[in-house]
Amino acid sequence: MKTTFFQVAVNAPLSTPLTYSLDPSKFENEINITRGTAVQVPLGKRKVHGVVLGETSPSNEFSMRSIDHILSEYPPLHDTYIKWVEWLAQYYMHPIGRVIHSSFPPLKRGGKRKSQNPPVIPSVEPSSPPKLTDEQKSCLQPIIDSSGFQPFLLHGVTGSGKTEVYLQILERVLSEGQTALVLVPEISLTPQLIQRFAARFPEKIAVIHSHLTEREKTNQWWSVVAGEKPILVGARSAMFCPMKNLGAVIVDEEHEPSFKQDEKLKYHGRDAAVVLAKLHGCPIILGSATPSLESWQNAQTGKYSLLQMKYRVAERKMPTVEVVDLKQLREAKKGLDHDPAERPFWMSPRLQEELTLNLEKGMQSALFLNRRGTAQMALCTSCGTQFECPNCAISLTLHGKSHLVCHYCDFSQQLPHKCASCESEEIETIGLGTELLETDLQKMFPQARLARADRDEISGRKDLEALIRNMDKGNIDILVGTQMIAKGLDFPKLTVVGLVLADIGFNLPDFRATERSFQLLTQVSGRAGRHVQDGGKVIIQTYNPGHSSIKYAKVSDYESFAEEELKERKDLAYPPFGRVTLIRVSSPQNSKAEGLSSLVYNRCEQLRNSQSKYQSVQLLGPCPAPLMKIRNTYRHQLLLKTTDAQCMQSFCYQLMGDQKWIPSGSKVQLDVDPINML
Ligand code: ADP
Ligand code: ZN
Ligand code: ZN
Repeated sequence: MKTTFFQVAVNAPLSTPLTYSLDPSKFENEINITRGTAVQVPLGKRKVHGVVLGETSPSNEFSMRSIDHILSEYPPLHDTYIKWVEWLAQYYMHPIGRVIHSSFPPLKRGGKRKSQNPPVIPSVEPSSPPKLTDEQKSCLQPIIDSSGFQPFLLHGVTGSGKTEVYLQILERVLSEGQTALVLVPEISLTPQLIQRFAARFPEKIAVIHSHLTEREKTNQWWSVVAGEKPILVGARSAMFCPMKNLGAVIVDEEHEPSFKQDEKLKYHGRDAAVVLAKLHGCPIILGSATPSLESWQNAQTGKYSLLQMKYRVAERKMPTVEVVDLKQLREAKKGLDHDPAERPFWMSPRLQEELTLNLEKGMQSALFLNRRGTAQMALCTSCGTQFECPNCAISLTLHGKSHLVCHYCDFSQQLPHKCASCESEEIETIGLGTELLETDLQKMFPQARLARADRDEISGRKDLEALIRNMDKGNIDILVGTQMIAKGLDFPKLTVVGLVLADIGFNLPDFRATERSFQLLTQVSGRAGRHVQDGGKVIIQTYNPGHSSIKYAKVSDYESFAEEELKERKDLAYPPFGRVTLIRVSSPQNSKAEGLSSLVYNRCEQLRNSQSKYQSVQLLGPCPAPLMKIRNTYRHQLLLKTTDAQCMQSFCYQLMGDQKWIPSGSKVQLDVDPINML
């Protein structure tokens, strides 16, 4: 046998695969090498992992280095999967070797050692499927009847029984002897959800998410790859488990921004899942009560098939939503020294009434506020100096009575008694957070059992599980929380939900700000009254009762909201009508970051003028990023916008070129279809 040559995607920041030789006479055993084979190869002085992408004929055989050995413990990645990885690398402009490296488990395949940890998947009583509602039936049928790749958008109000539809899709897939992938946002991967799947399909479920240990992840990976578990439920990273014979892909809460990875490979899990389903030739079901406008528009144009469920199951009503105008409340309070009812400043009489009433009924309430701590900022009222993080251009948040914390880099210090600039002792704190709500509630309802769910209180899966158990058992009367409690949770006795300040997020410099607010309001409201006939009660407190996100969330009218918001997007050629790519320039020195951002701007201008097809690429910026300094790194950005996705891609590749123009120490990063604009 003679020497052959292979293209290998090596685990290194290289934009293309490298060529390696293989001389069969140097190997003891017979070698079997194909596209997808994992290998170890030399790179510089190191040995790195790689994956063979195909055979090739080299131009210069002499300088060629040879494959060290074959990692035969891994079955070769199959072609469909590799095509998907190739798409990811190309579309999101990330080194292919880095992307493909995610396809392997973190540890070597382990023996059947008994672990001390509780099992990843709880053992629960098997459940049998309920009789489907008419709406559920009419959504399930077209999915079952579909053949080959077909994308479905399942738009169903909160509590309409989407999860049950997923379960029945899975049953079909299993009966055909196929496999299925179910993606959910990390935060909804609660034991509640996993239990529902495990109870319906005992012994058939594998789970992959970021809270597993490396050993657990490795074991779950093998149980799927070895064909023991046909259903994989996981967060976006579960997609990198190379599944064969996929019969369906399901993405729950498809609108969730957390499906987008923010660093390294900046891929969108939902979009990547659609491509995966396409390559496998199977249906994909995107489910949500508040679909992303991208998916909604695809359903409007017929690219996706729209399936809708407008009612909650068992004739349960949607919650009654009441909007409290905080401006009027403030007017009413004027002239009074203090609130005669001893209410905290953030609580309206209506909210107080509902909380009191619900406590008396022995039901549960939840208050939502997307902000941790006791106060948002501290400042000297004598000279106006704010307490800022030394590493970030962000004001410090007060926790407890005297602890200042940066929410971006975790820097912390004590609240000083004196201002460092003017020596005044007039230090005040302003604003509110979940900690303050809890303290105030304690004073107001000393008899109530309170719990708080935010990143300070709930640091891992165990904490969240304990909280869920306590809610289920009825050990909590009022739950206070951030977005941690906004999604996915289902508590039978939770009937009153209060949004303390809906306005947070209205004015973020992000073209999706209104969409996000609408989604959040709807999701939070959807936690109320899921198991009672009258649907429960939601109180939204706001200074902007006319804001379109509130107007439409109040009456659960997604479609009118989408129509209004899409008009604005269209006028500005923002997604889903245009494509955007964010270019972020960063450096430890502001002047360097700023200088580099001008350089990028000039390169863009040159490129636009060099070819007529690039004239359609619009350029916004450069400007400092809204979060200009984070962890001692200065950030500036530019936004590219066009209606032509192909054009965008070739523009970006040309713009980045060999990247040798980027000074060392500075970074230029591209984010294709960005979600985080801050
Ligand atoms: P969604 O995912 O749309 O929010 P779920 O699937 O969680 O809704 O359903 C809400 C509740 O209704 C759950 O407690 C679920 O067990 C129950 N449920 C779903 N479908 C049915 C059905 N056909 N008959 C009775 N109960 C159902
Ligand atoms: Zn001062
Ligand atoms: Zn900081």
